[in-house]
Amino acid sequence: MSKSRQGLFLLLVCALALVTGPPGGPAPSLHVSSAGVSKGWLPVIPGPPTGDPAQTGQDGARCADPAGTWLGMRWRSSLRWRVNEQTIPAYLGDRADVVSALRNAATTVDTGRNDCGLPENLGIQESYTGRTDHRAGVTADGGCGERDGHNAVSFGRLNKGLLAVTCIWWFGDKSNGRSVEADILIDDTPGLFFLRTPADCGSRWDLEGTVTHEFGHAFGLGHVAFAEHGSLTMTDGLPDCSTAYRGLGLGDYLTLKQQYGTN
Ligand SMILES: [Zn+2]
Repeated sequence: MSKSRQGLFLLLVCALALVTGPPGGPAPSLHVSSAGVSKGWLPVIPGPPTGDPAQTGQDGARCADPAGTWLGMRWRSSLRWRVNEQTIPAYLGDRADVVSALRNAATTVDTGRNDCGLPENLGIQESYTGRTDHRAGVTADGGCGERDGHNAVSFGRLNKGLLAVTCIWWFGDKSNGRSVEADILIDDTPGLFFLRTPADCGSRWDLEGTVTHEFGHAFGLGHVAFAEHGSLTMTDGLPDCSTAYRGLGLGDYLTLKQQYGTN
């Protein structure tokens, strides 16, 4: 803990929900005339660190802070996703352990697993359906590539400063859109993540907590500001060496519940 405050304590997972439309167009959705509907894509990418990490901490704020933001689109069906195991970097060790961490992250958002004693019964559906050769449709600079009909989680190159990026594709108005694909690209730089907190940790990030945040995006959660809401999982900053973000905080949970209800 003390070491992390001397070093690079904070790397924003995705500093802002950057809504990017077609070049030159202000609208976040790309209209497709042939289909008679609009579709869009949304990259949620990192940015420069902001806020003072010393002001956040492992206090009770996580279960007292109801803040949350919503991107606009929702899944009306189960999010069935796969992992490109070939892309898992060797330094992370056994691929099965990595997949397990990714599945834990998805399950956390699916059920609403939390640290606050709230019932784990959110009305979200997802399922891990195995391996894929497809890669996430996310570019190294955090943009969105082509939708390929597969919800893929893969590792690959991301520009320095980006831990992971989620792209979402949806139909309809963004404000009430129907999500049809979500891809997550996780940076594969050696040593960037850990599955279990290493001794003498510094400038390394918890893979499960990071991906929990990304699955939060996949289901529609936006960011909350690190400076005010740094203990929530959807904070736009994630401290290094912390496993405190594996579950949902109060605001993360309430925002999902508002949109998806309960089982
Ligand atoms: Zn984010």
